[in-house]
Amino acid sequence: MSAVGTVLGMLLTDLRHFLDLPEDAPNPSHRLGEHLGNIVRAATAGDAGTAWESMLPCRRRPANRRCPGRMIVLRSEPDTPISWQCNTCDDAGVISNWTDSPFDLRRRGLAIAGAVIEIVISDEAAAALREVTLLDPGCERLVFGIRAHHDDAVLIATDEDLEELIGFVAAEANHEPNRRRQQRLDSAFASLSAAQTPSGR
Ligand SMILES: [Zn+2]
Repeated sequence: MSAVGTVLGMLLTDLRHFLDLPEDAPNPSHRLGEHLGNIVRAATAGDAGTAWESMLPCRRRPANRRCPGRMIVLRSEPDTPISWQCNTCDDAGVISNWTDSPFDLRRRGLAIAGAVIEIVISDEAAAALREVTLLDPGCERLVFGIRAHHDDAVLIATDEDLEELIGFVAAEANHEPNRRRQQRLDSAFASLSAAQTPSGR
């Protein structure tokens, strides 16, 4: 099977073909690989069996303007493809062979139950969090599990998760040489810190 095919307008992709793309592969391949990797991270960070709307932006640019849509993702069984579709345009596809890839964020072992809080953050803050490079899998799961809610994003975390994530964001902001990116990280840091409950401080 080739790396990419289409059936009835659906983009059929095999994640394995995008895992070790050579540096000199064409840019569109790298961009598609990144897009697919993020979809797998979101689909494996969220619940299985129900389609939900992530904060991942659509990759399409009809008439050179970015499609404002977000990716709706659905994961069912481990060995069946992940489906995705834009909530605005007709871009849609399935991704096979994602199981146990580096983008597979499914929880290993039992989750420790704790009271969770819902934190509403901006679209920009959610995007800044996705760019944090130092996250451990638990924090990646929080960030890619962020759901779209109207124009905002909702992050669901326990106080402990939140504290850990705030630590990563602070570390990244401290080492960020790009001033604009640092400001975006600082603002994400501020919205997360504001959501901490007093006992968690
Ligand atoms: Zn779209």
